[in-house]
Order: sequence, then C-alpha cells, then structure tokens
Amino acid sequence: MRLHTTPTPTRRAWTIELRPQHGGLALVCAQCSADSLLPPGASGRSAALAHLARHARTDVLPPYLRICQCHEHGCRWHHRHRGCTGPVLLVLTCEHSGRIWRLADICAACTEATPHTAAVPDTVLATSPAGPHSTLSGPGPDDGRRRIRTNSSPAEQTYVRELLGYLAAALPSEISAKARLLALQCALRTNGRSFVQLPAGLLRAMRIDRDPSPWQDLEEAHWLHRPPATSYAASRRTSVRLLDPTVLSRSLSRTKRIRAADWALRTSYNKQLRNHGADEGLAALTLRAHTHAGTVHGQDQQGRLTGMCGLPSQKLPHVLNLLTTAGFLATWRSDPGSTDLTWTLTRP
Ligand SMILES: [Zn+2]
Ligand SMILES: [Zn+2]
Ligand SMILES: [Zn+2]
Repeated sequence: MRLHTTPTPTRRAWTIELRPQHGGLALVCAQCSADSLLPPGASGRSAALAHLARHARTDVLPPYLRICQCHEHGCRWHHRHRGCTGPVLLVLTCEHSGRIWRLADICAACTEATPHTAAVPDTVLATSPAGPHSTLSGPGPDDGRRRIRTNSSPAEQTYVRELLGYLAAALPSEISAKARLLALQCALRTNGRSFVQLPAGLLRAMRIDRDPSPWQDLEEAHWLHRPPATSYAASRRTSVRLLDPTVLSRSLSRTKRIRAADWALRTSYNKQLRNHGADEGLAALTLRAHTHAGTVHGQDQQGRLTGMCGLPSQKLPHVLNLLTTAGFLATWRSDPGSTDLTWTLTRP
C-alpha cells in the first residue's frame, strides 16, 4: 500500500548575511543564493530588510499551514525552551550585531525566548504586491497572529506596543530614545507611501524643533531622509521620507494610526514627566504600552523592554526610579533570578 505524502510546505524562514568584502558590503541570501555587492553608502540593514520582505511576500502560505520554523530548525535560535505554544507570528531577528538578519514564522513561545527578536506587526510589512490573499496584507480577525498577548487592549496601545518591538529589532541598538520616539511618530504618521509630514507644533511638543541629533541618528542609520534645511527652517511642516522598506501601514486606517501616534505622544510627554528627558519618556511609553489593558499592572521580560527603551540594561533601574519619583510608576520590581520586570502605574 502506498502512503499518501503531503507536499513539503513552503519554508517560511529566510536569512541574510551582510558580509564585509573588499570593495564594500555584500548581501548574501541563504534561500535564493542572491549574492550582491551593495553600492557604496547603501545601508546593509535597509537592503537586508527589503530583501527579506520580498521573500515573505512571495512565499505566502495560508495561516493554517504556517508552522513554527524555529521548531523545524531544532529550536537552535534560543536557549531555554518550554515547548512551542501560541500563535505563529512573522518575526524579525537580528544577530551578530546586525550582520545576520532573519525573518521567519515563529510561535509566540519561541519568539519570547529568542533575543534581539520582534514580531513584525500588522502596522509593518502591511502592503503586499501579492494582493489581498497575501497573509502579509493582514490576517483574518480570528487567526490570532496579531498579538502574542491574550489580553485585549485598546487598538492604540496594541499598535504602539507592536511598533516599539519592531523598532527595537530594526534600529541599531545605539539609537537614542529621542530618535526612537521620532521614528515611532514617523512610522505611525506615514501616508502609506513612506512620506510623512510633521507639523512644527508636534516637533515642539517633542522638544526636537531645535535639536538636529535625532534626525542625524536616523539619517545615519539610513532609516529616514529629510530634505535640506532650507525648507525645514522656513516651512511649518517637516517633510520626511522613510527609508525602512517595511514601514508601510496601508492596511490600517490612517485615522487609527494618527490616534495611536497621539496616544504615544501624550504618554511619553505627559505632565508628570515635564522635567524629564526622552529616556524617561520612552520608558514610560514602553511600560504603559505593555501594561495589562484596563489595569495598572504589567509584567514582561526585562531584556525586551530594555531593548525597546534603547537603554543599556544597567541604566534601566535608574530610569525606573526617576519614573517612580515623578509619580508615573507606583512600584517596580525585578526579582533576582527572574528575567521579568513587574510594575504598577499610579493610574490606569
Ligand atoms: Zn533571497
Ligand atoms: Zn524554538
Ligand atoms: Zn516554536
């Protein structure tokens, strides 16, 4: 008797290596054998993300066929393992200080256990040339891929949380908190064709209207491009083009994204933090975005939160103490031997 064999499913895991070579940086893809020297000055990160996004859009699978690729590869991408559980997410991982980039379908449990990893949210990678049937153009309402957490939270909070996670993986670790807050606003306010217009009042509220450093940080990371200063100084709006090929948010309504951007702004520059800087503002936003919906309590992996805050891990306690003194946090705790941080906000 012949056994029916199911065809091998499409492997939804793609890896890029950025290899320094004589004459520049080469992009080497393990899947399609692409091996090309990048033009001088090109960002390896942008090229890698663009290439990975193309693979994800081409090798589409219906949600019910998507399996944890980490498990398929023997769970070698993380240390501890408690078994695969949770929805399968599309996940971006950066290894070897930005030399290796991997995009893969990974279950929520493996994602949590893998360092330098972020689930690619629906706000990102949303536009697919593959059309409405692409799994990347937005999953059905019940497929569970949208979030790792099971608690439901307001849409604004969810979008911001997902984007913070994405930016933690996609931006270089040395990018300042101020630049991360700017990147978040740009990603949420983009018109879906990678262009953003930021009103002067917004930049004043973010206290960056006279500060070139966050722009420089993001330009040096090849994350955005700002036209020359003549128009910047003269006009009431700063026009920006986003160079991160994955930040396209066409699947979400603009109104919802702007609402999320306003929520993020109110949280990170709220009155309690008036006398504090961007480090405290971004930490406050990260904690608020990860607080269980409708409560003042939160708990998450300390390493992940630190990455989203753009802080070295030893600086986190100092910033959390400042947030407590400012009245934003009621308490926070990081137990020895645990990788989790627990906190309570002063108000929901
Ligand atoms: Zn490839
Ligand atoms: Zn695994
Ligand atoms: Zn898994």
